[in-house]
Amino acid sequence: MDDSHAVVVGGGIGGLSAALALHRHGWRVTVLERAPELREVGAGLSLMANAVRALDALGLGPALRRGGHGEAPGGMRNRHGRWLSRVDASEMIRQLGTTALGVHRATLHRTLREALPASSLHTNATVEHVESGPDHAEVRYQGPDGPHTLTADLVVGADGLRSQVRAQLWPQHPGPVYAGSTTWRAAIAFPDPIPAAITWGPGAEFGMVPIGDGQLYWYGAVNAPPGGHAPDELAAVREHFGHWHDPIPALLAATPPEAVLRNDIHYLAAPLPSYVRGRVALLGDAAHPMTPNLGQGAGQAIEDAVVLGAVCAGGAERVPAALAAYDEQRRPRSQSVARASYVAGRLGQQLHNPIAFAMRNIALRLIPGRVALRSMARYADWRPPAG
Ligand SMILES: Cc1cc2nc3c(=O)[nH]c(=O)nc-3n(C[C@H](O)[C@H](O)[C@H](O)COP(=O)(O)OP(=O)(O)OC[C@H]3O[C@@H](n4cnc5c(N)ncnc54)[C@H](O)[C@@H]3O)c2cc1C
Repeated sequence: MDDSHAVVVGGGIGGLSAALALHRHGWRVTVLERAPELREVGAGLSLMANAVRALDALGLGPALRRGGHGEAPGGMRNRHGRWLSRVDASEMIRQLGTTALGVHRATLHRTLREALPASSLHTNATVEHVESGPDHAEVRYQGPDGPHTLTADLVVGADGLRSQVRAQLWPQHPGPVYAGSTTWRAAIAFPDPIPAAITWGPGAEFGMVPIGDGQLYWYGAVNAPPGGHAPDELAAVREHFGHWHDPIPALLAATPPEAVLRNDIHYLAAPLPSYVRGRVALLGDAAHPMTPNLGQGAGQAIEDAVVLGAVCAGGAERVPAALAAYDEQRRPRSQSVARASYVAGRLGQQLHNPIAFAMRNIALRLIPGRVALRSMARYADWRPPAG
C-alpha cells in the first residue's frame, strides 16, 4: 500500500483500537492524546463476547484472556441475595463461541498500546481543529512545543464523550445528556472466587466482576441529581450498599478510599445522523456515548475499530467509499445497542416505583433460562467482517 496516513484524535480504548486496526491493514498512524501520559483512568470492564471477538480480530484475544478473567456463571440477585435469574455460562459460551471477559482497564489499554509502534503515539497533544477536504484532511493541535498542523488521508475522532471533533463537525447537535444516575467503581485485591453478578435494589444496582490476578471490579449505581460529590465517596457507597447481601459489605471493607471513582452517566439522547464527514470518521464514545447498563460502550468502540480497519484495507484512495461503508455498518448497530442499554437501565438499575420493581423481579424469576440467555446474548452475538 502507498503511504496512507491516518491521524487518530484520542488515545483511549477506542482510539488505540482504531490505530491498531489501521496499522494492521498497512496504514501509518499518528495518535494524538491530550493527556501528558497514555493511560486509562478507571477500574475494570466487562467485555462481552462481541468485544472479545473484536479483540481476537486485532490479534489481542490470547493476551487478554491471559491477563483478564473468563467470566464465571452469574446472574441477577435482589439486595437480600436471592437469585432472580442465573446465567448458564457453558450454554452461553456454546452459543457465542467465546467467554465474556472481566479485565482491568489498565491491562486492556496497555495491551493495545504495546501492539502499536511507540513512534505513533503522541501525548500532550490537544487537537483544536479538524477540517476535511476532498483529497485529504487537516488536524491542528497544540503540542508540548507549540502549535502543529498535520495532513492525513483519514482522521478518526476518538475523543470520547465530550468530543471536540463531534462538536465541530455537527455544531447543531445538542451533545450528551445526563441519564439520571451516578456510579462509583473500584478495582480491588480480592482473591476469593466470586461469580460476576448484578444486584438490584430500588433505583440502585451493584455489580461485581472478577478481573484476573486476584483482583475484582465492583460498581454501584444510584438514581441521583447530576454533579453530586461526597467528601468521602466510599462512605457514600457504604451508605447505599453496605447493608446489601454478602459479599458486598466485604468488598467495600476491602476497598481503599482512594480507589473509588465517581462518574455521572451521560449518553447521546439524539443519535447522530452520520458518523462520517468527508475524510473524518467518529468512533467510540465520540460517536455513540451510551449508558453502561449492557456493558457495551468499550465493546462497541472496539467493534467500530475492527470494521474501520477492514473497510479501509484498500488504502487512502478508497477512503470516501470506505467511510460510507463504515457508517452503514456501524451506525445502525451501535445506535441500537445504545438504545437497548438505555432501556435496560430504565427497567433495571433505575426502576424505583415499588410496584413496578416487585413486578419486574417476579417476571425475572418466571422467565425460562433459555429466554433470559437469548436476550443477554442478543447484542453479544457479533462477528467481525471476514478477511
Ligand atoms: C461507569 C462506567 C462503566 C462502564 N463499564 C463498561 C463495561 O463494563 N464494558 C464496556 O464495554 N464499556 C463500559 N463503559 C463504557 C466505556 O468506558 C467507554 O465506552 C469507552 O471507554 C470509550 O472509549 P473511547 O476511547 O471512545 O473514549 P475515552 O475513553 O473517553 O477516550 C477519549 C480520549 O480522547 C482524549 N481526548 C479528548 N479530547 C481530546 C483532544 N481535543 N485532543 C486529543 N485528545 C483528546 C481523552 O483524553 C481520552 O484519552 C463504562 C462506562 C462508564 C462511565
